[in-house]
Amino acid sequence: MKNVQFHLDPGPGSLVKAREYGVSLRANNIILASHNHLDHCNDLNAVISAMTHDGLDKNGILIGSKSVMVGVEGERPFITRSHRKFLDKFLSLEAGNTVKFGNEIELRTLKTKHRDANSLGFKINSDKISIGYTGDTTFFPELIDELKGTDILIINNLEPFGYRSDDHLSSDDSVRIISAVRPRLAIITHFGQKILEQNPIYQARDIQRRTNVQTIAARDGLVIDPISLAASLRKRKINVE
Ligand SMILES: [Zn+2]
Repeated sequence: MKNVQFHLDPGPGSLVKAREYGVSLRANNIILASHNHLDHCNDLNAVISAMTHDGLDKNGILIGSKSVMVGVEGERPFITRSHRKFLDKFLSLEAGNTVKFGNEIELRTLKTKHRDANSLGFKINSDKISIGYTGDTTFFPELIDELKGTDILIINNLEPFGYRSDDHLSSDDSVRIISAVRPRLAIITHFGQKILEQNPIYQARDIQRRTNVQTIAARDGLVIDPISLAASLRKRKINVE
């Protein structure tokens, strides 16, 4: 399986931002939707429409939590029935499942502790690299075992140092996780108001200083070469039409 494009958690603005930064949603092969909170899946149906030419070209795989795919506790599923039909395959998964794409790529779903009890983390393994994504979760010791062996670790770090949350990770949690997992690169993202006020770049520097692991703060347009780990910024396309 060559040139696989994953789209992880298509939250609000996915469609607009993809266009702005020149990312083709038509090139998506696999969409991952970790849970049913708006900031993670608001644009899910719109992204499926873009990927499939509104169903004319049925393709792609959607992998999501039960809450996104079938709905739980009286909540409707996030995906609509018609958008489901636009896809080649859709899988509703629980933590601890493994899916293989060809011989080269394997996806594992990870445990979380979050308000959406079905919320997932993900680990994408290939022969060259392993990428971990915490999903939305608070800290619990098993999280470290779940994320072990990842080369690039993406952490949903909502709160800065000194703040605790029952639902999300803080910079203190990131230090604990990164110190134990020791990825080649850690990327913090999913910033809340308090960490934005303190500037996530400084938080990332502080995490790096405390863990001795290269840590960067995500920003719009960030591109990472997964092998060299070189970071660059995708230029915004300025529309003059
Ligand atoms: Zn959430």
